[in-house]
Amino acid sequence: MPVDFRVGHGYDLHRLEERPPAGRGRPFVIGGVTFEHDRGPVAHSDGDVLMHALTDALLGAIGAPDIGQLFPDNAPENEGRDSRAFLEEAVRRVRAAGWTVGNADMTVICERPKMGGRKAEVVASLSHILGVPATDLNLKGKTHERVDAVGEGRAVEAHVVVLLARTRP
Ligand code: MG
Repeated sequence: MPVDFRVGHGYDLHRLEERPPAGRGRPFVIGGVTFEHDRGPVAHSDGDVLMHALTDALLGAIGAPDIGQLFPDNAPENEGRDSRAFLEEAVRRVRAAGWTVGNADMTVICERPKMGGRKAEVVASLSHILGVPATDLNLKGKTHERVDAVGEGRAVEAHVVVLLARTRP
């Protein structure tokens, strides 16, 4: 039976500030996993860049409105919101349109903290939400070589590419 494919791309960046009271940084959460860090994202929601990039990649693949359109950053209900809700809505739309996630390749870029030892935890967290095997999700951690905002520890960013598949009716 013929199979259709869709690719989706997502990108996100959040500014990092010191944790209160010195700054407005929220806890540093990546893919639903909290990392120990003296800085955290400044965001309306919980500022989980990886979850946001993955959500946008899924929404983009099916031609749906993007995360900012579905969950405006001036809406009171999204204040401090767990980004899991955004990702769950994207997954719901993907499934409703008959698509399944083939794989996702993800990159998180920040100077600190290091993703290294906790990659499996992040992948497991996303695997659970997406309902796809961890072996179909890949996560890379990179630094920005100490240059520009990300390299100076003032921002964190994430890039995600997803592939969706659907059997042609
Ligand atoms: Mg964001």
